[in-house]
Amino acid sequence: MPAAVHLIDHPLVQHKLTLLRRKETSTAEFRRLLGELSMLMAYDVTRHLPLREVDIQTPVAPLRGRLIEGKKLVFVPVLRAGLGLLDGMLAVMPNARVGHIGLYRDEVTLKPVQYYLRLPEAMPERDAIVVDPMLATGNSAVAALDLVKAAGPRSLRFVCLVSCPEGLANLQAHHPEVPIHTAAIDARLDQRSYIVPGLGDAGDRYFGTKA
Ligand code: URA
Repeated sequence: MPAAVHLIDHPLVQHKLTLLRRKETSTAEFRRLLGELSMLMAYDVTRHLPLREVDIQTPVAPLRGRLIEGKKLVFVPVLRAGLGLLDGMLAVMPNARVGHIGLYRDEVTLKPVQYYLRLPEAMPERDAIVVDPMLATGNSAVAALDLVKAAGPRSLRFVCLVSCPEGLANLQAHHPEVPIHTAAIDARLDQRSYIVPGLGDAGDRYFGTKA
């Protein structure tokens, strides 16, 4: 039985996702909304993180509080669209480390090919969260999780904004133990492997590179 797919159906997330999807949404607005969405999604995807107890003093009395060990967390955006989710996540988890994975699609084999990989040291002590806004065919996500898994993180999760049944099935077939967090499960892929209804090319919309 594969790990859970967590559907982030909070009203704020659904509201902002709807605004983001609109074709009239400008690049500036798209960036702002994606930043806000990533902060809200960070709330869901960090829910499992272990806490350590610390003794502090409030103005009134001593207190045994609890803190996340931020340095143990590593966000791994898949280049380039994954960068759109990074700033928001770092805004709420500023001590997290960041890895990067660069993949492109080979035009002949249609398989993802790695062109960049940089992960922090001591991965076995870290909780890794791979981030990519769109889970379409799932081939890049499978390859990204292969690479991060090879570094042996303490835990591993995948977070995306929009997914579809094909991508979820592919990811679950190859990495059944990895929980997936997504704000939407759309209907299907089209012939060009775009998610329908989706939001178009997330990287182009975030970076303003649409031809
Ligand atoms: N990547 C995107 O940016 N959008 C899609 O619909 C599919 C893959």
